[in-house]
Parts: sequence; structure tokens; C-alpha cells
Amino acid sequence: MDAPFDFDYLIVGGGAAGLSLAYHLSQEPRLASKRVLVLEPDTKEQNDRTWSFWADEPLAFDQIVAHEWERLAFRSPTFEKVFPLRRHRYKMIRGLDFYQFVGSALAKNPQFSRVATAVATLENLPNGGVRAITTAGEQFTGRYAFDSRPPALRELQQPSRYRYLLQHFVGWEVETDHDAFDPTTQEFMDFRGEQRQEPRFMYVLPFSKRQALVEYTLFSAQILPKPEYEAEIRRYLRERVGISSFRITAEEVGAIPMTDHPLPARNGPGIVHLGVRAGRAKPSTGYAFKRIQAHSARLVTGLATTGRPPRDLTGDKWQFRLFDTLLLDIMQRRGEITRDIFADLFRKNPVERIFDFLDERTSAWENLQIMHSVTPWPFLRSIWHVLRGRPGKRE
Ligand SMILES: Cc1cc2nc3c(=O)[nH]c(=O)nc-3n(C[C@H](O)[C@H](O)[C@H](O)COP(=O)(O)OP(=O)(O)OC[C@H]3O[C@@H](n4cnc5c(N)ncnc54)[C@H](O)[C@@H]3O)c2cc1C
Repeated sequence: MDAPFDFDYLIVGGGAAGLSLAYHLSQEPRLASKRVLVLEPDTKEQNDRTWSFWADEPLAFDQIVAHEWERLAFRSPTFEKVFPLRRHRYKMIRGLDFYQFVGSALAKNPQFSRVATAVATLENLPNGGVRAITTAGEQFTGRYAFDSRPPALRELQQPSRYRYLLQHFVGWEVETDHDAFDPTTQEFMDFRGEQRQEPRFMYVLPFSKRQALVEYTLFSAQILPKPEYEAEIRRYLRERVGISSFRITAEEVGAIPMTDHPLPARNGPGIVHLGVRAGRAKPSTGYAFKRIQAHSARLVTGLATTGRPPRDLTGDKWQFRLFDTLLLDIMQRRGEITRDIFADLFRKNPVERIFDFLDERTSAWENLQIMHSVTPWPFLRSIWHVLRGRPGKRE
């Protein structure tokens, strides 16, 4: 350890990103001598979320995948299809399983310490290194800090320059007395309901013929009163699944930022941002879990090979950032056509290409194929708004 510091690395926030980084660090033998402190106020004893994602290669947390699907359904009024997944599987991890799995790996490893506290101030020190000051007034220094505290987006907003939407949802885990669900098929986006000027869809993870997580999801700026999501879930279960009697066994509520607001990947020489704070929630979809894993792996490789975080902290590519901005602009201007854009994507592309595109792994040629598959006018209009440097207004 660098002698003047209490720890080599401070990890501020032990949620998805903080604990993912800690776990990736614990698996890297070249960093086995580093001392790491995780500062997190919450006990993480609740199953406060589930993370789902598609994957075509092993991930660090495959052991705790609670369920996976080999078929995926897309539905809209003009196009619906169930796609067999060839290269990918759609997977789900329960938050509580993740917190416990990483928690016990860190507890067995003397490199790691955890303190149950909130950090009030995190600062770069004049002669190198960083200092965290907790709300209780304790101080900890480190060579580097990795900060995953949620960003204060509401205060930072500049709506005349950037687009600010949320992926917001209420989900119920339901149990029925009769077979009602197809546990082999994940309902990725069911856009058959009313759009009301914004993208609204059902998202269903069926765990068995009688158990499923059913979420009413929107991409828009304003959260709805909770009874509105609940009414739509009931309507979906009644009209599409054909059940009116069910038990709610768990609930999931969330709002994930979808924005092109530049969320910096670092703050000065010693503080690296993680998770949503570092823009790891994909602006056009809200998916973050796999991007967080890729970011953790990238940081650990940099630290292990050079002793420093990599210069290019995220590896983000400008062309995908532009695609995200264009889609956000369309959602903000004419949200109701988002379902037609997704319908075109699913009608005209193999699902593997769509997933690779959303994973930002497609070649320039594949990006052209994706762009060629959707109606060009909304995108051309949004390119105009991007060139002007101002988001489009509701039309
Ligand atoms: C309900 C829900 C479901 C989601 N589902 C999916 C999904 O299916 N797939 C997907 O890819 N993404 C999903 N996401 C998006 C994303 O993956 C999650 O939001 C993820 O948890 C983000 O990781 P994070 O570390 O940035 O934030 P968090 O996991 O929220 O961690 C931040 C941590 O910082 C701590 N903290 C806050 N203030 C302080 C402080 N002052 N000092 C120290 N610590 C502090 C918090 O207690 C928290 O533990 C979901 C999000 C939500 C909310």
C-alpha cells in the first residue's frame, strides 16, 4: 500500500456498481496486496430490485442467476413475434442474492473492510490521493476513490441543452392458481396498450406457469401516480393473460435516468465515478447491469496492468452516444412513435444484431443496417435538433 494512505482504494456506495467493482478486484491476483474500504450506509438486506440482461458470454455472477430464458417476445399492434435466442440468453439476478454473494466473498477476504456509513464529502488531496469524510465526521484517505453515489441529476438539469427522461415502472410478482404463463418466453416489450404520447409497455419475466414478474414500464419525464401503473398491470393480467384472480408476492418500483446529460467518468485525478453516476445506465434503454460489469472489468484491468485507472475510463464510442441522443430526442418529441421504431427494428433485424447494437458492439456496416431498418424521418429531424444544440420540443 502507498504508505501515506489508510487504504489503497475507497469504494463509496456498495450497490450494484460499488459491489461489482469490489468483487472484480477480489478476483484479480495482481491486486491481492491492495486494501479496499467499502463505505455504504444501507444494510442491503432487502431484495430492492432484480437485474435482468441479455448475455452471450459468461459473467462474473452467473452462479446467482435465478432464472434464464431462451425465447423472447416482442409485441406491438403492427408486429409481434416470439424469437428463439440463439447466441444469447436473457437472465435475471435478484438484488438480495447479489448483495449476499458479494458480501460473503468480501467477508472472507482480509483485503476488504466495510463501514456502514454515508459519505458527505469526497475530495482530491493537494499532494495526491483522496479523502472521504462521512456524515458522522470520520475521515478515510485512499490512493483512489470510486464513487457510486447517485448523481443529483435534478439539480444539474439543463433542459435547454439535454434530454431528461426516466425509465419508470411498477412491477408485481404474482402467483396464480391456474397455469397462465409460458416460462420459456420472456415478454421483452408488449406495446399493445395505449401509448398516450409516450412509450408505454408491459415487461414480463415468467418464472413458472403460475409465477411471473409483471411490470408496467414507461420512458417519459413524469412519474405517474402509483394506482395508474397498478391499474394497467391488472388490465394486462385480465385482458392479455386471462386471469383476474392472483396473489401479489412482491413489488418492484423504480425510476432509472435516461439522459444525454454528460455524466463525467471522473472528478479530478483521484476520484473515478461508477454506475449511474458515471453514465452507465444506457441513455436510450435504462439497462445498466452489464455495462457496470464491463466498466468494473475495464477499471480492474487498468489498475492491475499500470497501477492506475485507464485513461479512457469507459471506452464509450461517440456514434452510439449519438444514436442514444437521437432516440431520446424522438421519445421526447413524439414518444408514441417509439413503438413503431422498435417494431421496425424487431421486424427487420435478427435479434442478435439488435442486442449487439444495444451493447454497442456492432460494426459500422451493422449500424447502417440498423439505421436502414427504421423510418428515417424522425431521425433526420432529431439530427437537426442535435446540430442546433437544442432538444426537440413535443410536437
Ligand atoms: C428497481 C430497479 C430495477 C432495475 N432493473 C434493472 C435491470 O433489470 N437491468 C439493468 O440493466 N438495470 C436495471 N436497473 C438499473 C441499474 O442497474 C440499477 O439502478 C443499479 O442498481 C445501478 O447501480 P449503482 O451502483 O449506480 O446504483 P445503486 O445500486 O443504487 O448503488 C448506489 C449506492 O450508493 C449508496 N449511497 C447513497 N448515498 C450514499 C452516500 N452518501 N455515501 C455512501 N453511499 C451512498 C446507496 O445506498 C446505494 O447502495 C434497475 C434499477 C432499479 C432502481
